[in-house]
Amino acid sequence: MTRYNCLVCPGYCCSHSRIAVSEFDIARLARHFDLTVEQARTKFTYHYQTKEADEQILRHQKDHIYKSVCRFFDTTERRCTIYAARPNVCRKYPYGNKCGYYDFLKFERMHQDDQEFIPSA
Ligand code: SF4
Ligand code: SF4
Repeated sequence: MTRYNCLVCPGYCCSHSRIAVSEFDIARLARHFDLTVEQARTKFTYHYQTKEADEQILRHQKDHIYKSVCRFFDTTERRCTIYAARPNVCRKYPYGNKCGYYDFLKFERMHQDDQEFIPSA
């Protein structure tokens, strides 16, 4: 049973700075937006390379809660705008029936006695 509720969460997972996508994900985005794969790659992603990583990452936008979130996130409604075409990593997250951030959020809201409270992550 799922022990988290994304509908009451401001979308912390979409603020991760490195949301890596595969060639398959980029091709799906391209189809969704009726673009070529190269257009989708340039418009929606950038190349991130360090000694430890070599990834294609989703671009971000500014956000009033987490400073920066995925470019596909609706910062008012707090939801993904491309749910049907979202990358695999977003489909898998949080990799089980629990979400650590949701537990943290629930705990902080209970202690603040405020169901709208958003703790700094
Ligand atoms: S951080 Fe957890 S509860 Fe919040 S939207 Fe992501 S998966 Fe859902
Ligand atoms: S594609 Fe959608 S689910 Fe994935 S990080 Fe962006 S807004 Fe969140």
